[in-house]
Order: sequence, then C-alpha cells, then structure tokens
Amino acid sequence: MAKIVILTGAGISAESGIRTFRASDGLWEEHRIEDVATPEGFVQDPELVHRFYNARRAAATAAQPNPAHIALAELEADPGHEVLIVTQNVDDLHERGGSQNVLHMHGTLFGALCHSCEHRWPAPEVMSPTDSCPSCSAQATRPDIVWFGEMPYRMEEIWHALRAADLFVSIGTSGNVYPAAGFVADAMHAGVPTLELNLEPSAGRSMFDEARHGPASVLVPQWVRERLG
Ligand code: NAD
Repeated sequence: MAKIVILTGAGISAESGIRTFRASDGLWEEHRIEDVATPEGFVQDPELVHRFYNARRAAATAAQPNPAHIALAELEADPGHEVLIVTQNVDDLHERGGSQNVLHMHGTLFGALCHSCEHRWPAPEVMSPTDSCPSCSAQATRPDIVWFGEMPYRMEEIWHALRAADLFVSIGTSGNVYPAAGFVADAMHAGVPTLELNLEPSAGRSMFDEARHGPASVLVPQWVRERLG
C-alpha cells in the first residue's frame, strides 16, 4: 500500500474557472490580501469581507471539478494507494470530484465560524456581519477561512502524515504561502520522495526530486494513469 500525501493549491481549480491568487501583485480577485484575507481586514470592514467570500462561495458552487480533481479521486479509490489530500483551497471541488480523504488546512467557504465562542456551522449561501451565532447568539459570524496571520488547521496531523508517506506530491501551488510551502522541505528531511506538478516552476522547485510543468488537467490524469499502471 503506497501512502501518498498530496498538497493542492489554487492552480488545480484554475481550469474549473476559479481564479488563482496572484502573489506577484498581492491581489485576489482585484482585492488586496490585507483587506479580505486578514483578521485586521475583517475588523476594518466586515461587510466587504463577507461580500468577498459570498462571491467566492457562489463562484465555487457554480464551478465543476476538472479532470485533475477527478483523477485524484480515482487514485484514492485504488486499493493499492492510501491518499491524503491536504488542500489550501477553500472550494469543495475535490469532494465533488469524488475524493473523500480531504483536509482543508485553510478552512472552507462552506463553513461559518463564530469568533466569539468558536462554534462552527454550515455557511448559508449569503453571510452578513449581522448573522447571529446559533450557539451563543453573538453577532460575530465570519467565514471559516484561515486568514493570513492565523494558524492553519490540523497541522500536527499533516506533519505526521508527511513523515509517514512514501511520496509527497505538490499540485498547483506557487510555494509562496507558509506553512504549506515548507512541506517539501519537511518531506525531504524525512527522506520522502517529492514530485511537483505545476503550470510553471514554483518557488520551491529546487527542493523537489522531480517536477513536471503544464496544466493540471493534463499532468495529473497522466501521472495517475502511470501510478495505476
Ligand atoms: P497561488 O495562486 O499562489 O499559486 C497558484 C499556482 O498554480 C501558481 O504557481 C500557478 O503557476 C499554478 N497554476 C495556475 N494555473 C494552473 C493550472 N491550470 N495547472 C497547474 N498549475 C496552475 O495559489 P496557492 O499556492 O494555493 O496559494 C493561494 C492562497 O489563496 C491559498 O492559501 C488559498 O487558500 C487561497 N486561494 C484559494 C482558491 C481556491 O480555493 N480555489 C483560489 C485562490 C486563492
């Protein structure tokens, strides 16, 4: 049984029509990251932040999984492979592509979080700053998204899986956002072979044992076919 940990980023959903975050100019869908993806931005303008994530949620709901998402689900279904997808994406295209073992380290557009009592519940289609927490009634509702400066979810579990893996694969991620960008180094230090599948060489390219560059919808199904013989 080959244990494979797969890190995915915005690039795997790009061909489903969901735009990536452009590290070069720090903009995400024409917004400054500081304004829409930090706790300070939320305090400054909660209306704007909710509007931003309501739009991302609507776009993710309208999008469909592409051949890369579907190929990873096929790999997971194979009895010879134990696959864990660690995604930085906040969309649900892995799940809708058929993957079951998916860990959302940066949270999800489909969750709501009370920043007063930390209760979590399924996000309605449209959230607003005046929504009350179903548990404590505080008007402190935020999207269940890990913002810059906050600790990503389930890190111990991820590091444990990385160290125990037979292969680490990174798909569609620029290698600029930590701690995910450090997984290749963690795998390398644990003696785990590493593979990058990305449109272009990522910031961490030199650390990968092997790298293939091109669109995920082509590279990922190709690689999965090789694995499945
Ligand atoms: P990123 O936007 O920084 O990098 C995306 C990478 O994907 C780039 O290296 C790019 O060359 C590559 N890429 C673009 N199109 C591709 C394709 N068709 N096939 C293969 N690779 C392709 O993304 P990141 O590293 O994931 O970091 C962005 C942060 O922003 C994450 O924390 C994430 O939570 C958030 N984000 C999420 C989504 C989403 O959920 N779909 C979308 C945008 C941003």
